[in-house]
Amino acid sequence: MALRQIVNLPEPILRRKAKPVSKFDKDLQTLIDDMIETMREAPGVGLAAPQINISQQLAVVEYAENEDDEEEDNEEAPSRPKKLFVLINPEITKASEEKVIGVEGCLSIPGLLGEVERHKSVQVKALNRHGIPVKLKTEGWMARIFQHEIDHLNGVLFTDRATEVWVPKPDEVVDLD
Ligand code: ZN
Repeated sequence: MALRQIVNLPEPILRRKAKPVSKFDKDLQTLIDDMIETMREAPGVGLAAPQINISQQLAVVEYAENEDDEEEDNEEAPSRPKKLFVLINPEITKASEEKVIGVEGCLSIPGLLGEVERHKSVQVKALNRHGIPVKLKTEGWMARIFQHEIDHLNGVLFTDRATEVWVPKPDEVVDLD
């Protein structure tokens, strides 16, 4: 495994629609493992292939959802195990009408945060790392991360959707993806 370099704006690949993955070979498995390692090292809660300069419909997500996802900074909540997802050629098949506002940042846009409205829950159809179709139902912050990653695969960045962006204060820490 190896760390890959994360590219930042204005790298044009971040604005391109990524190509679907068609070969589930050894190189793909290496790429997925490298992306997981790169995401953990960053650290981030998600990483899409265009962010490491590869135009493929592939993203990884790793996040521990708290029971009280709605409540901010609930430090009393027991920490849950992190869940790791590999999303290949993902598509949102259903999205809740209800939307929620949250603060996002991006590993490819250092030094900016923004307030972004997202669907509260989404259903996603994707392939796993072995090419097997999977259906995922996500809610809350996990659903937000999935939407952020799928946007990356379509050349869309959180700043396109943000109602407001700002430079974070030193104590303002947000999960990046
Ligand atoms: Zn991002």
